[in-house]
Amino acid sequence: YAPLSEIDPVVKNIIDKETWRQFSGLELIASENLTSRAAMEANGSILTNKYSEGLPSARYYGGNEWIDELEVLCRKRALEAFHLDPAKWGVNVQPYSGSTANFAALTALIQPQDRLMGLGLPDGGHLTHGYYTAKKKITASSIYFQSFPYGLDPTTQLIDYQGLAQQARLFKPRLIICGASAYPRDWDYAALRKTCDEHGAFLMADIAHTSGLVAAQELSNPFDYCDVVTTTTHKTLRGPRAGLIFFRKDSPHASDLEKRVNEAVFPACQGGPHNNTIAAVATALHQAAQPEWKAYAKQVIANARTLASELVSHGYKLQTGGTDNHLILWDLRPLKLTGSKVEKICDIMGITINKNAVSGDASATAPGGIRLGTSALTSRNMLEDDMKVVADFLHRAVQLSLDIQKETGSKLLKDFERVATKGDSEGRKKVIA
Ligand code: PLP
Repeated sequence: YAPLSEIDPVVKNIIDKETWRQFSGLELIASENLTSRAAMEANGSILTNKYSEGLPSARYYGGNEWIDELEVLCRKRALEAFHLDPAKWGVNVQPYSGSTANFAALTALIQPQDRLMGLGLPDGGHLTHGYYTAKKKITASSIYFQSFPYGLDPTTQLIDYQGLAQQARLFKPRLIICGASAYPRDWDYAALRKTCDEHGAFLMADIAHTSGLVAAQELSNPFDYCDVVTTTTHKTLRGPRAGLIFFRKDSPHASDLEKRVNEAVFPACQGGPHNNTIAAVATALHQAAQPEWKAYAKQVIANARTLASELVSHGYKLQTGGTDNHLILWDLRPLKLTGSKVEKICDIMGITINKNAVSGDASATAPGGIRLGTSALTSRNMLEDDMKVVADFLHRAVQLSLDIQKETGSKLLKDFERVATKGDSEGRKKVIA
């Protein structure tokens, strides 16, 4: 029972340094958030010791009385947080992450080599929605299934629902996946359902990014139209790292989705559930069901809108010109800057962002933009006025990147790259000075 600092001071020291990094800097990564202390306490609990393959009351191990109670509670809270009728919807709370939740959902819904369509990665989709390149099938979702991406309208940069409907008539998918990792606008689930119904296809929404905002009813509701909804629990939902799969019990397309999803999670794709994480998910869902949650979600969106409009007023170009959710895609190509350069400069300044493809980028590996999100800063109680200051910092980061770019190959650029990649704190102080 000795504490970490005594047993393993090396790891303790790394955790302390990361704690300092998270709270001394500005966290603007759209897929991250600051999990509550209560959820972290549950996540670090003794529940990590327990094996419980199977489902409540049907386990492959003894000693699961309290784990059963926990998993049933977590399911109940998941349905409550998303305002779902337990007669119509069920949920599996065992997925270890969003990627495993998605692969389990595909396993439940379609057969190997069946066809699926997802938003292309360069247009904001996620790897697990069927991503492949001309050279290689990159993810299990394109290795085991035949996938075809849909995309954005090049003029509006909004999802091209008409183009998708036309492509679907040719490709005849068994499944359409909606949801994204980098799309700043809301979705038209009714249009997608219509296209699915033309082909008897399933509709699955992956709301990993926006689930906290959907729970607060601040974005349109995918549950009205989808057969299956997956999510991570650690982005706008602010829980520990895990995944959830919601399935429609009364889907007109398959009456056995409950059995299919449960069996796809275990034993098809996973082993024993991580009970400590399920406890933390239950706590996060409890927090997301409180009246304060709506205010938090509203503030996340208000902050993102303010940050977006401030950047636009500095003369910058944003994909779609703004945002409806927590996320902003900033197109740096008019400045002839790459996302990776600005990411590095921001790292040195203590602002954490990530490079990201913007619509029309030739390659997802050399992206021309950056992605910003306001969930974590809003968890630190920042408001619209704070976003104006953040926008100013970002403006200065971009101006600095432009100045450095002018001196390509110079010592200054090399110094910046060295401190950015090596975490050289002495060098960092000198370069910043
Ligand atoms: N789905 C979407 C839309 C995501 O953005 C992500 C992660 O960023 C995932 C799934 C995968 O989640 P995880 O990293 O927990 O596997």
